[in-house]
Amino acid sequence: MDALRAFAGDQWSVEFDQAWRDAYGVIAQKMIAAADEDANNPPYWHAEVLYHERRSRDIAVITCRPMQPLEYRAGQYISVECKYQPRLWRVYSAANAPRKDGSIDFHVRALGAGFVSSALVWRVQPGDMIRLGAPMGAMTLDRRSTRDIVCVAGGTGLAPIKAIIEELTRANRTRWVHVFFGAKDRDDLYDLACLHRLAARYPWLSVVAACSDDPEFVGERGNIADIVGRYGPWREHDFFVSGSPGMVRSTLRTLAEMQVPSIRIKYGACSRTPR
Ligand SMILES: Cc1cc2nc3c(=O)[nH]c(=O)nc-3n(C[C@H](O)[C@H](O)[C@H](O)COP(=O)(O)OP(=O)(O)OC[C@H]3O[C@@H](n4cnc5c(N)ncnc54)[C@H](O)[C@@H]3O)c2cc1C
Repeated sequence: MDALRAFAGDQWSVEFDQAWRDAYGVIAQKMIAAADEDANNPPYWHAEVLYHERRSRDIAVITCRPMQPLEYRAGQYISVECKYQPRLWRVYSAANAPRKDGSIDFHVRALGAGFVSSALVWRVQPGDMIRLGAPMGAMTLDRRSTRDIVCVAGGTGLAPIKAIIEELTRANRTRWVHVFFGAKDRDDLYDLACLHRLAARYPWLSVVAACSDDPEFVGERGNIADIVGRYGPWREHDFFVSGSPGMVRSTLRTLAEMQVPSIRIKYGACSRTPR
């Protein structure tokens, strides 16, 4: 309040003073109430790395187990910090639906000069402790919906989609689920074998893989947004879209052109810009 008063100078008035006091009061009440609601959770969770598997030149799948229960929903993301880059937190999507043993998978791509992603891919190993923050994000399954589902994933954007598919494997009997998994080249389709295994086991699941930059790839070639467009129409489906900001943008454009109502689309962009 002092800063506002000082910088507003002569323009400050009693009305402004009261309005700002009221606004701060509302914000503080909301924050205190939210903190009280969250009182049973720790500020962060310690987790042990159980497995670390390199799946391509720059992608690793990491499995960790929090020491205390960490509740989240398939499709959410979690802040991660490791000892090799202390106090630098980055968010990664949980790549599995919650398991009984509490373990969580992450699919991480190392960006050349990226601090945390390269530590997670190149340095972290089984036995290391990492810290996890509270889960966030609303790209979760609407369990009341009976619509068929289309999932569009680019690169490690597959992580939340895979968690959602896993959640569906536990209850789904009636909804067809079409997964489009796009990447630059074959090496980047780091989890395709697992998707094929799931599709072989669950008759409601189909998988289409595509490479945008691999002339020898046997399968769909081109931009994943265009390929989704070619397989349509999809007007009656629920959509999940996850990948780089560019991939998400072009997929949303394609869906708008196909007149998919935006209310049926949930999406998340793995923005890599520094915070
Ligand atoms: C909601 C959400 C979910 C996410 N989920 C995942 C996930 O599941 N898996 C995943 O791998 N990532 C995910 N990310 C991205 C992740 O949070 C980090 O942003 C990413 O790993 C980079 O962090 P860093 O510390 O390594 O890079 P930083 O040190 O933060 O540097 C990133 C910046 O450096 C630049 N940069 C560094 N190296 C390169 C390079 N080789 N090429 C181009 N630019 C470069 C980029 O401009 C970028 O802006 C998600 C992001 C969001 C917002």
